[in-house]
Amino acid sequence: MNVFEFNGNKDLMVRLKCDADLIQSITELARSKRIEAGSFTAIGALKSARLGFYDQKSHEYREIGIDSACELASCTGNISLKDGVPFAHIHVVLADEAGNIKAGHLLKGVVFAAEVHLRQLEGPKLERKYDEVTRLSLWNVK
Ligand code: ZN
Repeated sequence: MNVFEFNGNKDLMVRLKCDADLIQSITELARSKRIEAGSFTAIGALKSARLGFYDQKSHEYREIGIDSACELASCTGNISLKDGVPFAHIHVVLADEAGNIKAGHLLKGVVFAAEVHLRQLEGPKLERKYDEVTRLSLWNVK
């Protein structure tokens, strides 16, 4: 287990624009506010999405496409540095009109409406580095 200590610094409440991409919006927000470490949650609705399921044997993301409107029942993520710039890692739980759920690693999400609570954290530099075991970019502290 790797434990990195941070202090909560600032909370931002943000409404995203209709038709914006969720990942791009949060990434741009972090970059414009110079947030290098943080965590966030969001709720709202998406017009469409693409989710990833990481195959632990092949070390590749399998994609799940969602081409219809859905509730953004839950969205949680974090911000850290990747290649020296703020990077958003986002997971979502999406519900269709019958309340059926699809969930996973967010690859793309077209916003209908979204309310984001982002907490900026102060502490060491939290950098993603390639991990040989998982073949993912995971946290390291500089
Ligand atoms: Zn993920």
